[in-house]
Amino acid sequence: MPPFPPLLEAEFLRKNLDAVLARIATAARAAGRAPEEITLVSVAKFHSAEAVAALARLWQQGLRGDKPAAIGENYLQEALAKRGQVEFLAPTNPVEWHFIGHLQSRKAKNIPGNFCLLHTLDSEKLACVLQKSVREIRDNGGPAGMRQRVLLQVNIGREEQKDGVHPEEAEGLAEVVSGMPELALEGLMCIPPFGAAPELSRPYFAALRELREKIENSLGIALPQLSMGMSHDLELAIAEGATIVRVGTDIFGRRKTPSRPE
Ligand SMILES: *Cc1c(COP(=O)(O)O)cnc(C)c1O
Repeated sequence: MPPFPPLLEAEFLRKNLDAVLARIATAARAAGRAPEEITLVSVAKFHSAEAVAALARLWQQGLRGDKPAAIGENYLQEALAKRGQVEFLAPTNPVEWHFIGHLQSRKAKNIPGNFCLLHTLDSEKLACVLQKSVREIRDNGGPAGMRQRVLLQVNIGREEQKDGVHPEEAEGLAEVVSGMPELALEGLMCIPPFGAAPELSRPYFAALRELREKIENSLGIALPQLSMGMSHDLELAIAEGATIVRVGTDIFGRRKTPSRPE
């Protein structure tokens, strides 16, 4: 049996994680914000349970030992399988799972109880499935005050093939979701159009922040979270108020994207 975790992989992850946390801290201070205000979600799609377990261990070794490691996944089956393996490989290292991929409503019932935060709510239909699933868990002996935390995904660049509600529809959906006691609407998420230069993302990040303020004012609700910024543009997202950045490549390395059914 090879030693676990492979030393090289742990060392690779440690360096990457140190570098990303340093970038977050620098960007936060430059914006007059505290680095602790920003949650790093390490995006693990296509990466192994071993890599996630190694990250969870590093996380507890003083990097951000006061909080669980936050792991983001895009595909439900992959995420649930990996979650089981990580619990086995790193049983004492707390991990919280974030769902950041496109979600079909027939699969949405699996979110409550498995993911602390859903970043990609984009329809009333999906919200209704989540609501029902939370009720079922409660009725079957789950925590009485259980709520599913959610963010609305906004298609901030109004791109043809991209998921998310268009900006002008976000307020209507926010109103519906914030009226559902089983859901806790905490903010907005976006993936801006991919640009070769990170600077190109900045106007979209600013637009998401402005949309958040507009919805907060007109509905009289608080939306504290903005999930925006990835490996190549996290600094700009933080400058525009991101509270959650989702970083894959710069932590786990480049993804080998196998052809897959999704
Ligand atoms: C894959 C993915 C990320 C991470 O992207 P990187 O460029 O690898 O940092 C962030 N958010 C979402 C929604 C993703 O699907």
